[in-house]
Order: sequence, then C-alpha cells, then structure tokens
Amino acid sequence: MKQKEAVRCYHCGKIYDLSKDTIREVISCSHCHRSMKLDRKSERCFNIVRYCLVLFISMNVVVLLTLLLKNTLLVMLASFALAMLLTSSTEHLCLRITHSLFGLTYEEYHPEEVERLEREEDRQREKKKRLKQAQKAEKKLGK
Ligand SMILES: [Zn+2]
Repeated sequence: MKQKEAVRCYHCGKIYDLSKDTIREVISCSHCHRSMKLDRKSERCFNIVRYCLVLFISMNVVVLLTLLLKNTLLVMLASFALAMLLTSSTEHLCLRITHSLFGLTYEEYHPEEVERLEREEDRQREKKKRLKQAQKAEKKLGK
C-alpha cells in the first residue's frame, strides 16, 4: 500500500505522484532523465485488467450484435475488430484501473540495454543457423 501513490526514481530519488496524467507504462524522470517501466508484477496485473475489460465489453457487444444481425461471420469480424481497437485504445484507462486496484510499482528500464541484448541474441541465432547449415553441407559432402 505504501507505494500505491508515488513512484521514486531509482537513480536520483525524486518522487513522482501517479496521477491520471502521468501514469504510463514507461515513465522517465524529469530530473535525471532515466526511464522506469512497470515491473513484472504490475505488468501482469495490468494485462489481466486489460484482458478482462476487453473481454467484458466484447462479450456484451457480441450478444448485442447477435441479436441485431443474423450473420455469424459478420458478428465475429466485428467483435474481432472491436477487441483489437479496445486493446489499443484502453491502455491508459486500464493502467489507471490497475493503479487503483493493485497499485503500480516500477523498476529500472534501460531501452538501450534491452536493444543491445536483443541484437546480441540475434547474432547468436544467426551464428547457430550458419553452423547448422555448415553441418548439413558437410553431411551432404560425406555422402
Ligand atoms: Zn531521476
């Protein structure tokens, strides 16, 4: 409950109030410009809230559409489009709901670091692929 109202910058210690304008998945400190993002636990809560909300609204719309339209395919298409739309448009709303229900906690976030790790992973994968290809080619030659 303690961390429910505010976020402390991991680097400079500046404290931020989480209000409906500042709440975000990733926030950056106005003082030292470091980034923080939702930690795993908050992220999971956020995803559950978002999932439930989208499911709830979609279900209602599906029921409504089924009553109005007799075309099942059309209903399915419309609800699929709606679910996509809701998922992208309700992010902020869901963050706020999650915040008031569970509280949000943040952790250090280094976008450059994540990017570097991803590139490293890509390189490793590429290397493995090439190794496999070389082995295959060798086998072929062996025959
Ligand atoms: Zn800071």
